[in-house]
Amino acid sequence: MSIMPGSMLGLLGGGQLGRMFIMAAQSMGYRVTVLDPADNSPSSSIADRHLAADYLDSDALRELGSTCAGVTTEFENVPAEALRALAEYCVVSPPSSSVAVAQNRILEKKFLTAHGFEVAPYKVIHNPDNPHNLNGSTPQAHPDDLSSLFPGILKVSRLGYDGKGQALVNNTAELQSAFAAMNREPCVLEKQIPLQSEISVIVARAFNGEAATFPVPENQHRRGILDVSIVPARVSPAIIQNAREIAVKVAEKLDYHGVLCVEFFVLAGEKLLINEVAPRPHNSGHYTIDACATSQFEQQVRVLCGMPLGSTEMCGAAVMVNLLGDLWEQGEPQWEQVLRHPNVKLHLYGKLAARPGRKMGHYTVLDNSVEAALELALTIRQALER
Ligand code: ADP
Ligand code: MG
Repeated sequence: MSIMPGSMLGLLGGGQLGRMFIMAAQSMGYRVTVLDPADNSPSSSIADRHLAADYLDSDALRELGSTCAGVTTEFENVPAEALRALAEYCVVSPPSSSVAVAQNRILEKKFLTAHGFEVAPYKVIHNPDNPHNLNGSTPQAHPDDLSSLFPGILKVSRLGYDGKGQALVNNTAELQSAFAAMNREPCVLEKQIPLQSEISVIVARAFNGEAATFPVPENQHRRGILDVSIVPARVSPAIIQNAREIAVKVAEKLDYHGVLCVEFFVLAGEKLLINEVAPRPHNSGHYTIDACATSQFEQQVRVLCGMPLGSTEMCGAAVMVNLLGDLWEQGEPQWEQVLRHPNVKLHLYGKLAARPGRKMGHYTVLDNSVEAALELALTIRQALER
């Protein structure tokens, strides 16, 4: 049964992804209650109702579940148990079982390889101080096995984001000190891959199994944080098609209902590896707000409410540039440098404090060609940084 406009929807998480979900939901006539511990968060400040409580607070979950027709999440690390508890009361998308896999790098990699999806060579790291237990998975690997993964990237299994909880390590000694710096939490050590580029596919999958993917962005990172998304990605049509098909298969194998992002590494020879999966709309899909018939956030509303998926069609090209808190160092940026270009859209998330590396907003340049959009995007960035 569909959830009709006018109904109350629930959202776990207070960040900018939630804010953009709320904007999409409200513009279709829905109301939204946010559950998030913080006051004045980007989403709680525009929500119809805010429950300020922990994600595992049973009273708050009961209140959210019993007053909302459907609940979704904007936050990758929302405890899967919270989604499981909410499913007793109302429609939940995405399912807790898929979120539990995607929010844990060890489970995610095991899931992907078990289903035949290719990922970078990796090993699970539980205790690198004990030379006989460098690899905590069974069967026990000989420590020498790890040498094939150097130089590698040690990634904490849970709660990492925007390159946090990651370290480049060149040998066992560096691995040991990086592991200690991560409080000896379970990690994966992943071989550093020579990337030609990175792309991502955002897929929406409905409760009836119907799936739609968006045009594929090419993603450039700075200091581990997404910097620029260029759409359509400058890779061959065969890579694009392959990536879109893989992303739909991942959603199917995960039994996923909702919006999912699959991040890919593009290697020489048109080879694709899956980097990671995010069980929510994604920063690389922000361009869809201004460039596509349906945004990734509207698609999230449509899936949650059991409505038909919207068209993901796009005409022309788009380049999205993230605005990090570093830009506020000399005070408020000169927004007229963005807004004087009539085909550029500015999005700010209403965050009260700008800190280095904090995502404060983004802008999207719309143009007929990728080259023209990219050139203007970089011109605007230079003007803002001055
Ligand atoms: P996050 O959860 O912070 O997005 P990712 O695992 O996606 O973490 O890593 C962030 C970025 O770091 C990637 O988009 C990529 O640019 C780089 N990176 C991560 N793993 C590798 C790897 N194995 N080889 C090369 N680059 C990598
Ligand atoms: Mg990533």
